[in-house]
Parts: sequence; C-alpha cells; structure tokens
Amino acid sequence: MATDVLDSVASIPQIRQTQLLINGEWRDALSGKTFATVNPATEEVIANVAEGDAADIDLAVKAARAAFESGPWSKMDARDRGRLIYRLADLIEENIEELAALESLDNGKPIRDSRAADLPLVIDCLRYYAGWSDKIEGTTIPIRGNHFCYTRREPLGVAGQIIPWNFPLLMVAWKWAPALAAGCTIVMKPAEQTPLSCLRMAELAMEAGFPPGVINVIPGYGPTAGAALVKHPDVDKIAFTGEDATAKIIMADAAATLKRLTFELGGKSPNVVFADCDLDAAVAGAEFGLFFNQGQCCCAGSRLFVEESVHEEFVAKIVAKAAARKLGDPLNPETTQGPQVDQAQMEKILSYIQKGNEAGAQCVTGGTRFGDKGYFVEPTVFDHVTDEMPIATDEIFGPVLSILPFKNVEEVISRANNTHFGLAAAVWTSDVKKAHLMADRIKAGTVWVNCYDVFDAAAPFGGFKRSGIGRELGAAGLASYTELKTVTMNL
Ligand code: NAD
Repeated sequence: MATDVLDSVASIPQIRQTQLLINGEWRDALSGKTFATVNPATEEVIANVAEGDAADIDLAVKAARAAFESGPWSKMDARDRGRLIYRLADLIEENIEELAALESLDNGKPIRDSRAADLPLVIDCLRYYAGWSDKIEGTTIPIRGNHFCYTRREPLGVAGQIIPWNFPLLMVAWKWAPALAAGCTIVMKPAEQTPLSCLRMAELAMEAGFPPGVINVIPGYGPTAGAALVKHPDVDKIAFTGEDATAKIIMADAAATLKRLTFELGGKSPNVVFADCDLDAAVAGAEFGLFFNQGQCCCAGSRLFVEESVHEEFVAKIVAKAAARKLGDPLNPETTQGPQVDQAQMEKILSYIQKGNEAGAQCVTGGTRFGDKGYFVEPTVFDHVTDEMPIATDEIFGPVLSILPFKNVEEVISRANNTHFGLAAAVWTSDVKKAHLMADRIKAGTVWVNCYDVFDAAAPFGGFKRSGIGRELGAAGLASYTELKTVTMNL
C-alpha cells in the first residue's frame, strides 16, 4: 500500500447502509425497531441500525433456502461462483479507504491497522477461497467386490453465521468466503456493537452480482436474532465466533435440530520467551501479540512466560514499548492504540486490573483509564503474576499483559498447558530442537515460533479444548461447509 495512503488522516465515511438485507432487498425490521451503534472514541451515536429479530430471521432463512434449492445460485457453474467472489474482493479493494475508515469508526481500531491488516486480510481471504470454488474434489475408493465407489463434497445448505465485534470485516470474510466457495447460502448476524462494515460489504456483494437470497444480513442482538437463527429448523449449520459462554448456549439451542456447529472461541494464549532468543524480536512480538487491536484478539499472548535469567531485562524493554504506545483518535494514522469497543468492555478490563492489584501482582506500567471521553485503557503490564491469579486464568480481552517468570522447559510446558483454553501459543528461541519440542508439547491449535499473529487464509485456525470446535481457513475451513457423500455402484 502506498505510504501516502497510510499517512493520511481518514475522513469520516458516509454511512450508506443501516437496513437488513433479505433476498437482495434492503428493508427495515418488521418490528420497525432500531438500535444505536456508538463511536467508542467519542461515545457519540454514529447511526441507528435496523434491529432484526425472529420474524426477520425467518424471512432471511426462507430466502436463503429458496436460493440454495432452486435459484440461479444452485445451478451456477463453480467457476462463476468463484468469479463473483473475486469480483467482491476487487470491489473491496476499490473501496478500501472507505471500508477501513468505517471499521475504525465503528470498532475504534487504529486506521493504520484497518488499512494494513484487516482490509488486506479480508481481500486475501476472499481471493483464496474464490480459487477453491472449482477445485472441490472427491476421491475414488477401492472397496470390496465389483463396485465403483466414489465421494463427492456437496454444499451443506443454509449457513447461519454469528460473529463478534473485534474484527468485524475479517470475521465476515472468514465466514462468507468458504461458505460461498462451497456453494452454500448465508444468513449472517453481525455483532450489535459493529454492524456497519458488514452492511457496507453486503452492499458491495449485491453490486458484485450475487443472486438474491445467497447473502442475507440481519443485524440485531444475540438472545433475539442470534438465538432465532440457531433454533431455526431450516438452518443446516451455525458457524459462531465469540465467547465460550455464548457457545454453550448455542450448543444447547442447536441440539433440538442437531445442527452442524463450528466454534471459534476465546483463549489465554501462552507466549514463551527463552533466554536464548533474539530478545528484541521477542519484545516486539510480545507487544504486537498482546496490544494489537487493543488486546481484543482471541489469540492474544496474554500469559507471557519469561525465562528467569532474562526476566529483568525483558520487563524493562516491554514496559518501554507499552509506555510508548500512542493512544488517541483511531482515524489519525499516528495512533497505535484506540479505545476498547464499548463501555462494558472497558469496565471489565478495569475490574481485572483491580483484581491483579488485589492479588498482589506488580503493575509496572499503565493500570488506569486513559482520559475521560471514549473507552480508552492504558497499556498495562503486570509483573510477578502467578498461575492462579484471575489475570493469568481469565480472558480479559484488553491491553493487559501478565508476565510470569519460569525456570526450565518442562516447567513452562506444564504451566502453559494449565488452562481450559487451547487456541494459540508462541515460542521465542534460537534452539531449533527446543522449538520443535514446544510445538509438539503445547496443546493449542496454532503455535507460532519466533513470530506472533501470522495469519494467512491458507493456514487453518481454531482451538484445542474449550477454544473451539472445527477449523476455519485453509482446506479445513472449506470442508466445514460441505457434506461428504459416498456413492457406490454395482458394476
Ligand atoms: P459474544 O459471544 O458475546 O458475541 C458474539 C456474537 O454472538 C454476537 O454477534 C452476539 O450478538 C451473539 N450472541 C450473543 N448471545 C447469543 C445467543 N444467545 N445466541 C446466538 N448468538 C448470540 O462475544 P464477543 O464479546 O462479541 O466477542 C469476543 C469473544 O470472541 C472473545 O471470547 C474472543 O476470544 C472471541 N473470538 C474468537 C475468535 C477465534 O477465531 N477463535 C476470533 C475473534 C473473537
């Protein structure tokens, strides 16, 4: 991306779309209700958005079912499905500045991150899966007797997709791209905190030419619109990203109709720094791994294990990094840390900081709200954290780093694995043997070695243990939107 784009202050984007998308038409909620979406940097209302509920979900599911069974989508050549996804990626690229600004306005993330991370990853994800559309193959299987046996991968049907607020557009791309490539139709419920970029992307999808009913978007609240989608008998699968507490409700609600479920949930990821590593690289990785996106990352490296012999030096360096972060207006390209997404998140984070202090951890920088307007929290580092403290066990989802010193490899493996979560982990070392040992022994869906938060649409992502069920991205993500059919012929 050109530096002049990265350096320019983003102008406040026009809010083009606040309605529901059902069967290719933009409409108000049947109830006529709306809800406010708020700018977390100023606490001002940005827009009032149509608030869908069970009745709107029902219409959207009917549209998605019709498009799946009998519309042009069901007969479309796989190459043409791919072309539509490529076209959507192109339109997003053409409107990248507007979408990045919208993302930063609604979510509070710094514009430099929306431009350099979120939007490019959205475009890559769409293009990656566009290429898969006409490459979904089965196998032939040598079975007993005079039979010809083969498998086909067929689209699963109507996919209900429920996403969180921390990467609003990227979560849309991770959900839509494999579903569309597989030939499914979609009813999406974006997070109530951040509906705007999803609605704008849906407008671009209509411009790209997706037939009516293939993509439906119903903003609204979890217990109403979300639950209605989960319980709807004509939805084949729920793909959910969010908290494990919500996933338990969804699993119970989906039981009556035995829906397919994929879950991308939370984490308390260990980031392990060995004394033999490139310490400056590890410090930079630790800063990025925790403070990126205001700490609102499912895979945030929030438990930072540092080998005792470099502990003091490491703490001094990470404190300097944290204190140098520039908090402020997310639309200013100088800003490196924006506000938390809403007041509830800010208060939750501040309550954990208090718990850290009460438990006897040492707050070495930050520790308070920043300013009195907007939901900003200072980058906070706690040292001498012990494993049982709430700041070491619970997902805080904010800019709070816990440093836990350790003595040796076996000790750190057992402490790193001592959690219900298993989403991600990182290891910093120059010893390749140690790196492989850690990659083998750490129970997590992703292990980064000498890097952090490296994402690629081709690399599967998801959780061990209570961090999720199934995988997104890569071939595994595509497979989760298909049914496997076995055909056996008597020859
Ligand atoms: P959340 O669970 O509160 O909400 C997520 C979505 O679920 C929202 O759209 C919400 O409206 C909906 N929802 C809430 N109650 C529902 C119900 N009863 N039925 C159906 N839908 C319902 O999560 P959040 O606070 O928005 O997001 C933060 C969480 O997401 C964190 O735990 C984070 O780790 C996780 N996350 C995970 C990944 C991953 O890939 N593993 C990625 C991003 C975020």
